[in-house]
Amino acid sequence: MKSELIEGDETVGEVEEVGKTDESPEEKELEEHFVLPGEVVGITEEFKGGDGTYTVRGDILASRIGTVQINRKKREVSVKPASGIPPVVKKGDIVVGMIINLRDSMALVKIAAIKGYGEREIKDPGIAAIHISNIRDSYVKNIADEFGLGDIVKAKVIDIENMRLSTAEKDLGVMSAMCPRCGTVMQKDERRLKCPACGNVEKRNLSSDYGSGEI
Ligand code: ZN
Repeated sequence: MKSELIEGDETVGEVEEVGKTDESPEEKELEEHFVLPGEVVGITEEFKGGDGTYTVRGDILASRIGTVQINRKKREVSVKPASGIPPVVKKGDIVVGMIINLRDSMALVKIAAIKGYGEREIKDPGIAAIHISNIRDSYVKNIADEFGLGDIVKAKVIDIENMRLSTAEKDLGVMSAMCPRCGTVMQKDERRLKCPACGNVEKRNLSSDYGSGEI
């Protein structure tokens, strides 16, 4: 991260604005909402990108799951992982996580959030697997046509002992993906993904909620 928020690097004067006082003045949250990686959280004309963000051609995008924090004083937007007591994953839960490993017969997912827990990031929920037979209702020949490394996926917990997930439902699957060639967030183009920057096209098992930021 190039532009990390360095604490104590500037003097904060009196709080001049009326607002929530549940945070320190420096971290005043004038606006807060939950985002997935790749979502635009600001523009560089207005803000600089802080922790948990990266910049592409004037857009500031989230690099992690969390809540958007805008520091007006520093003119900085950052994405802070939500804290809280780590909820326990149960069978039937809908989870969101990142594809961290692709094998011939399964994809490994690092779980980051559970639906229904305020989409809080969970601290150390571990790794779950999506077996090739649970990716779709239909037969999947090549797992590389379904997921890519670094994709954010929404999946259902189907086996808690072995931490198995399924994406074999319409709203489950890839929620956000970056272009493997240039790193730009890819856009849905019919049933595939297209990179708005370099034109690269990728096959994915897309969630019907792709790009919505909704879990
Ligand atoms: Zn690209």
